Amino acid sequence: MNKQNVISIKNLNKIYFKNSSKSINALNNLNLEVKEGEIFGLLGPNGAGKSTFINILAGITIKSSGFVNVWGFDLDKNPRQVRASIGIVPQEINVDPFFSPKKLLELQAGLYGIKKKNRITDTILKLVSLEKQKNSYTRSLSGGMKRRLLVAKALVHQPPIIILDEPTAGVDVELRGNLWKNVKSLNEQGVTVILTTHYISEAEEMCDRIGILNKGSLAA
Ligand code: ADP
Ligand code: MG
Repeated sequence: MNKQNVISIKNLNKIYFKNSSKSINALNNLNLEVKEGEIFGLLGPNGAGKSTFINILAGITIKSSGFVNVWGFDLDKNPRQVRASIGIVPQEINVDPFFSPKKLLELQAGLYGIKKKNRITDTILKLVSLEKQKNSYTRSLSGGMKRRLLVAKALVHQPPIIILDEPTAGVDVELRGNLWKNVKSLNEQGVTVILTTHYISEAEEMCDRIGILNKGSLAA
């Protein structure tokens, strides 16, 4: 049986204007489909447009033109539903150092309007192996733990799709393996995964399908 597309991108363009004379075509008529239940790798060199693509899905960056459909929702008509359907693990680590992992996840759940009784904070902490650290200051966590906490944060609203932007940049080999285990187990539970990387070996090892992004369009 054919799997359904959970993300469908048509002729997506993003032009950044630096000043009146200079502009950058970060995305150039990008066409892309991601199928339900797969791990899709978006591979490309620095500056290829990977983060721009993800930030458009996240609602952080506004597209210049084109169509984005996520989980059956059109980004122009239902931006909220698009955002509710995805959990994003950003490229930059940006967690408040003075909150504990548990507190941080509770705050995030609050932001999404999830009632106390419907929260799965402890389950998520277990999934990313941060149970022991759940009440420690985030600033005392290692780099790999902080990244796993970002993964946890993206899971709070139980999205069917999770997107990781360069998840292993600056993460050591052991923790990288750990992170992959987490991602695989999420995928086995039915979550569709998209990850970006500039390491071809990583993409080959982890992903069911790979798209190569170069200068804002899909090369293969
Ligand atoms: P990647 O994540 O693949 O490294 P990016 O999406 O970050 O690529 O960047 C794609 C291109 O867009 C680059 O040329 C980058 O300099 C440019 N760019 C990204 N963000 C901005 C921005 N906020 N303003 C202007 N140019 C940007
Ligand atoms: Mg990037």
